[in-house]
Amino acid sequence: MDNIKKRILVIEDEKNIVSLLTYNLSRAGYDYDVAYDGEDGLNKAISEQYDLILLDIMLPKMDGYEVCREIRKVKDTPIIMATAKEEEADKIYGLNIGADDYVTKPFSLSVLLARINSNIRRFSGELSQVCTPKGKVVSIGELVVDFDKCCVSKNGVTLHLSKKEYEIVSFLAENRGKVFSREDLLTEVWGYDNLYCDKRTVDVTISRIRQKIENDPDDPKFIITKSGMGYFMN
Ligand code: CA
Repeated sequence: MDNIKKRILVIEDEKNIVSLLTYNLSRAGYDYDVAYDGEDGLNKAISEQYDLILLDIMLPKMDGYEVCREIRKVKDTPIIMATAKEEEADKIYGLNIGADDYVTKPFSLSVLLARINSNIRRFSGELSQVCTPKGKVVSIGELVVDFDKCCVSKNGVTLHLSKKEYEIVSFLAENRGKVFSREDLLTEVWGYDNLYCDKRTVDVTISRIRQKIENDPDDPKFIITKSGMGYFMN
């Protein structure tokens, strides 16, 4: 459809990992840019246009969390964080502050590439444009999902959602009332099939969305938890 190469920013200080990543990104047909510390990474992420950011946590000058928080203030570029395997809490924390996903180090290249692929495919809108009719708008109370502008507003004010957050809200809104398990959502919205995903990725992302769309995130009115089954849009 378009022959423009997708561009990925790799923020990583370990040179051997950078070489491995860039070699494989290149082979997979991606363009890339590299930043070896958090500060440079943040500058590049903000001043340039990328299709995805691969972000390490332990970085010189500014850590990955700080970089992620700062990027999220101004940009909705998909972010995949690379966390050390044993640090379970780190993954959840990364998702909480706005990362779209994480991979654990040492990562499997095939898993990483599949995730990069699926994140880019979803977020570039190639899928949603194909299956969403023009001019489609769904209203749920004071919440409005505009499928043309790819945005969500509440009481007329546009909410600042990342692309992943928008994908989830729009997916649930499009299938209003239908309950989706966390596995369903990982397949449908994340585009993952059996890629060792942590189902809590879904929970944390939903809770992050609730902070933005609900009047009272602890007593949600829009995205409802169906105990033991999953989530649905009221
Ligand atoms: Ca590092």
